[in-house]
Order: sequence, then structure tokens, then C-alpha cells
Amino acid sequence: MAADALDLVLLGPVGAGKGTQARRISARYGIPHIASGDLLRAHRQQDTELGRQAKSYMERGALVPDDLVITMIVERMRRPDAAHGVLLDGFPRTLAQAKALDDELTEEGRALKLAIYLEVPFEDLVDRAANRWTCRTCQATYNYRVNPPRVHGVCDLDGGQLYQRDDDRLDVVSERIKVYIQDTVPVVEYYRQQGILQEIDGRRAINDVAAAVLSEISALRARA
Ligand code: ADP
Repeated sequence: MAADALDLVLLGPVGAGKGTQARRISARYGIPHIASGDLLRAHRQQDTELGRQAKSYMERGALVPDDLVITMIVERMRRPDAAHGVLLDGFPRTLAQAKALDDELTEEGRALKLAIYLEVPFEDLVDRAANRWTCRTCQATYNYRVNPPRVHGVCDLDGGQLYQRDDDRLDVVSERIKVYIQDTVPVVEYYRQQGILQEIDGRRAINDVAAAVLSEISALRARA
């Protein structure tokens, strides 16, 4: 049973569109969307011990230490709704996290079969982040040029208030891109070497990217 689980990783730099695509995949395949950034922001909103520890790293665009993030994700992956697969977004971001994920899946008799890499040129990312508005309640994201909300400042999904994340500011985004190149590009290479990486051009319209992503997942399921 566990071997049939659909475990996926969505990779890509800040603003590549991971969250937007992840919500669609999760709804389509009925697997939970586990976004490390969303979980960390929820911890900060609830002012938990983890939230307090993560705050200063997140504010400056640095990575939250591996041990904290790994514990948080593993705990989430062990909940019953994750028994048939997970869609990870924003995790793993370091090689140590990628190895911890492999260990956790192995323990469950599962294995990662697909890592989808959304490729967007670095020069587009700052602009995407600067125009990103996030729902305070469900963390859905909007961009006033490419996917505006129906009502200005209000989330289509739950009526939550839209705000601009502090770490989407130019200086912090530049730092996040630097961290991405240093720590996360090796994760992309790790999956490439394992033969499970699929690269998708993330510059296209949201629906076109979604079609490409879904076709990769269908192809995977057909092979299984
Ligand atoms: P985005 O999707 O825009 O790249 P996230 O919302 O995933 O950003 O992450 C925001 C911040 O949360 C990161 O800059 C980092 O500080 C922290 N974070 C999220 N995921 C991880 C992770 N896997 N490891 C370490 N830090 C993380």
C-alpha cells in the first residue's frame, strides 16, 4: 500500500510559482500540500517556540536551521492524511534535508519518484516577488498582473485580507536567491543524478505550467 503512495517534491527559486501549482496538484490528486514556508509562517502567527526561533532567519532571507525544519516536516508527514502521499513545497532546501526526507520515506516503505523543477530566470524573480500578495488566512498568492484577485485586497478563496510579505522586499529577495543558489541548487543536482528530476519552464502562463506539471505526474502514474 505504502509503495503506491504519490510522493512529490516541487523545486524552484522564490517566486517560481511553486505554491500556485502545488494547490492545484494537491486538489487534483488528493494529497496534502505541505509547504514549509506556510507552516513556518503559521508558527510565527501562533507565536510558538519554533515560530520565535525561525523569525530572525526568515526576516533576513536566511534558511531556518535544518534540525528545526526537518522535525517540523517529519511531524507533518506522519499525520494520517499524509499516509498516501505528500506534495512538498519549499522542502527540501538543503542536501541534509533531502537526505532526511529519503530516510523518512524509506522508513515508511516509500520512495520519492518525482521532483518537479520550475525554472524561471533569476532576473524575473525579484519582480514576481515584489508584485506578490499573500492571503493572511490561507496563504494563497496573487499577482495583480497575471492572476489578480476578483476583489482588490481580498482572497478569492476565503475572503482573507491580502498583504505583502516582508521577505518579498527587494533586498531580502536578493538574499533568498543567493541562498537558493548556494544551498538548493545542489538539491536539484541530487535529484537529477537520481534520475527523478523533471524540469518545467515556469515562465509560461499559470495554466500552461499546470498542464505540463499534471502531464508529468500522469506519466509517472502510468509507469507505476
Ligand atoms: P518562497 O516559496 O517564496 O521561496 P517560502 O515561503 O517557502 O518562500 O519560505 C520563506 C522562508 O521560510 C525562507 O526564506 C526561509 O527562511 C524559511 N524556510 C522555508 N522553508 C525552509 C526550509 N526547507 N529550510 C529552511 N528554511 C526554510
